[in-house]
Amino acid sequence: MVLKELQHIFHIELDAIYGQHEVDSFFYLCTEHYLSVARIQLTLEPELTITKPETDTFFKVLEDLKQQKPIQYILGDTEFFGLPFKVNENVLIPRPETEELVDMIIRNHSGPYDCTQDVLREESQFKILDIGTGSGCIAISLAKNSPNAKVYALDVSLEALKVATQNAKSNNVEITFIEADILNASTWNLFFENLEFDIVVSNPPYVRELEKQEIQPNVLENEPHLALFVDDNNPLIFYKAITDFAVKKLKPKGKLYFEINQYLGEETKALLADANFEDVTLLKDLNGNDRMLKGEKI
Ligand code: GLN
Repeated sequence: MVLKELQHIFHIELDAIYGQHEVDSFFYLCTEHYLSVARIQLTLEPELTITKPETDTFFKVLEDLKQQKPIQYILGDTEFFGLPFKVNENVLIPRPETEELVDMIIRNHSGPYDCTQDVLREESQFKILDIGTGSGCIAISLAKNSPNAKVYALDVSLEALKVATQNAKSNNVEITFIEADILNASTWNLFFENLEFDIVVSNPPYVRELEKQEIQPNVLENEPHLALFVDDNNPLIFYKAITDFAVKKLKPKGKLYFEINQYLGEETKALLADANFEDVTLLKDLNGNDRMLKGEKI
C-alpha cells in the first residue's frame, strides 16, 4: 500500500477524535517506529509503499488509536529527558512535568546547566534514591547524568520493576532496584540498614478521587491507578512516609525532591518544614502550577 494513502485513512478515521496535527504526529511516530521512515522521506517520496504485514500493523495501530489507547503504550516506547524508555500498562507514561523535576535536580547539583558536560559529578559515594520509580525514568535519567553516583530505585510493583530494569539496561546505566512498599517499613528496613543518601527523590501517587474529573479519559482507562491515585482522606500519605524516611536516611545536607499535587503545595511544604528541613521551596511547572518541592536536611 502507498504510505500516503494510509496517512489519508488515518486522517479520515481519527481527525474527529484527535485533530489533524496530532494525527499527523501519531502517523510519523509510527513510520519512524515500524519502518524507520522519517517524516522528510514521506515528503520526498510520496509514492513510498509498504508490504501487507506492515499495512496490517498500521491498521492495528489505527484501531487502538480509535479506542483512545495512548500512542506510547501502542508503540511500547517513549522518550524522556532525551532518552528512550519502554513503557507498558504497568507503568505511568513519563510526563513533561517530571522532566522539569529531573532538570531541576541536575541544575541544583551542577551549577549552571551545561548539557555537553557530565553533570552531578561527585565523589563515588554519592547516592541517589528514587522512590516509586515506575518506568525508571527519574532514576535512569539522573544516573545517565551522574556517572559517578550510585543510584537506587524502589517500587512496590514487580511488573513496573521489570520495565525499569529493561530501561536501565537499554540506557546503559547500573541501578539497584528494590521491590518494597515505602508505606511498610518491614519490606525495606533491612535493605537500607547501612545506607544513607545524598538525594531522595519521588513522584508518588498524588491524584485525589475528587480530581478524577480533571484526568483525561484515556489516562483513566489505560494508566495504572496504583501509580496515580491516593485516598481523598489521606492524600499526603506517601509524602509523609517519604519525608520520615528522608529524616532517617538522608545524609546531613542531603536533598529531598518531590513532584507534588498542584492543589496541595502549601500542605506538602508544611510537612517538610515540620520535619525541620531547611530551604524548603515550592516550584512551579511550565504550566504555572505548584509542581515541585525541595528541601535540605539539616
Ligand atoms: N501528573 C500525573 C497526571 O497528571 C500524575 C502523576 C502522579 O500521580 N504522580 O496524571
